[in-house]
Amino acid sequence: MDLPFLDLTRQYRALSSEIDPAIARVVESGRYIGGEEVARLEEELAGYCGVRFGVSMASGTDALLACLMAMGVCEGDEVITTPFTFIATAEVVCILKAKPVFVDIEPDTFNIDPSRLESKISDRTKCIIPVHIFGHMADMERICGIAGGHGIGVIEDAAQAVGASMGGKQACRFGEAGALSFFPSKNLGAFGDGGMILTDSETIAKKAAVIKDHGSEKRYHHSVVGFNGRLDAIQAAVLRVKLKHLESWNERRRANASYYNDVLKKYVSVPVERDGCRHVYHQYSVLTDRRDKLCGFLRERGIPTAVYYPVPLHLQEVFKGLGYKKGDFPVTEEVSEKVVSLPCFPEITDEEREAVAKAVIEFFENED
Ligand SMILES: *Cc1c(COP(=O)(O)O)cnc(C)c1O
Repeated sequence: MDLPFLDLTRQYRALSSEIDPAIARVVESGRYIGGEEVARLEEELAGYCGVRFGVSMASGTDALLACLMAMGVCEGDEVITTPFTFIATAEVVCILKAKPVFVDIEPDTFNIDPSRLESKISDRTKCIIPVHIFGHMADMERICGIAGGHGIGVIEDAAQAVGASMGGKQACRFGEAGALSFFPSKNLGAFGDGGMILTDSETIAKKAAVIKDHGSEKRYHHSVVGFNGRLDAIQAAVLRVKLKHLESWNERRRANASYYNDVLKKYVSVPVERDGCRHVYHQYSVLTDRRDKLCGFLRERGIPTAVYYPVPLHLQEVFKGLGYKKGDFPVTEEVSEKVVSLPCFPEITDEEREAVAKAVIEFFENED
């Protein structure tokens, strides 16, 4: 077996007859940044997520950064988030000289635990960034309830969760704004970097649009400090083609997860999907005490796995100055030692996922 963890070429091969002409259209138009393709993508994704505005960005990281800037987060402010996420979520807080304040996660969804939130809110808290980790939404009803009670904003890090929902309401519709990433491996991936802010707030949308264009509304007139955070037209054209297939890809991810759940639940702790939630399985991640041995066993059989995330953010060298130590977030720390993701991409064949499951079962059936 020589299975890739994620094979983006399969997706391209299946769609090349749609994608190639879309790219050619941009190349021939001579309009490479902004323009029609970008504007259409913003409308289409806003429509898909059920919000009024989409502001395209150069990456998911830029989308988060511009959201924070649009909400006025600055030096000395505190931003509450989860230590079990990709670095970008907390990095953007530090770029603005604000301080990330971590809150431990729920042991089953791996999302920020709302019951631990209230005690971390101070008079410096400016906003909360819940992350819909692996494609399952954080408990937005409770989080927004708590934030609302304190007059604090909420930004959803939906980089892994485009298409996920809770109570029939899509990710990015709960907070003041949501941020998507189009990093190639995400559920909706570009041919390079890209991202988008989704929001119902006209104020945030307008501010973010100015910020990502060097703080200018009118060319060469700059009203605020911004940066270059624009999306390329070629990426928008590719994403518009792919958006039409997103629902079917997410359904296939769900079917893969459901297959793995059935055959593996005896051996590992399989992901949960809370009542009323739609998980989109950006990652299919299980917990096992024997994670490293399992990974080695699978690797020898040509079956790749991945660990997201082996080092929680509060233990990262870059955040040493925040003063956290091992033991501060026991749930996060335990999960990061036991978690492992199996190949779950939409184009994996039935035979391949069966081979993955068979090898996992073989490992546990033969353990001493
Ligand atoms: C991918 C990701 C980001 C950053 O997105 P980029 O487009 O790579 O900048 C932020 N947060 C989470 C949770 C992510 O998975």
